[in-house]
Amino acid sequence: MNLSNCLNDPENDQLRSDLATAYEEYMNKAEYIITQRITFYNSISYTVLEDDGELHANIKLYPENVVTIQEEEGKSYAIVRAIFTHKYNDTKKYAFILVDWLRDTQQFEPILRCPIYEKQRLTDRRWHRVFPISIIDNLPRVQFLHNCASTCQVGFHDTTNIQYLKNIFFYKAV
Ligand SMILES: [Zn+2]
Repeated sequence: MNLSNCLNDPENDQLRSDLATAYEEYMNKAEYIITQRITFYNSISYTVLEDDGELHANIKLYPENVVTIQEEEGKSYAIVRAIFTHKYNDTKKYAFILVDWLRDTQQFEPILRCPIYEKQRLTDRRWHRVFPISIIDNLPRVQFLHNCASTCQVGFHDTTNIQYLKNIFFYKAV
């Protein structure tokens, strides 16, 4: 994914400030971050427990997975771009996700009538992208498909087209 593992790199400018925000808002850790190195992973597995210790879910998360994140206005969809760990000043390692938000355009694809979402552009800094892994306690049963146009080819999606369709015909049998 061509991501640098050094927070000091200019290209990680947003990641660094979003990581500091994630520590402060979700984990109550507001110190200046000392360790500048982060480590990326191809996947992460973890177990979520209820307050009484009962099993809530076993989760295996990969880049490209769609997750839901609770916001003030309700739940929103995001695509996981990267999974990484960082060692905080208390020398403990914490796991985070870096996401691209999917914004509901309130429009529908004219033939399939699927809702159209737009993926946050790399240059779009309006929304924070880094969250502790602990806020993902389940995986939504949804599927998003690239809203392919003539600029896409088999095996190659035109990433300048940021539109995705929420597949309303998709469901998992339980
Ligand atoms: Zn496409």
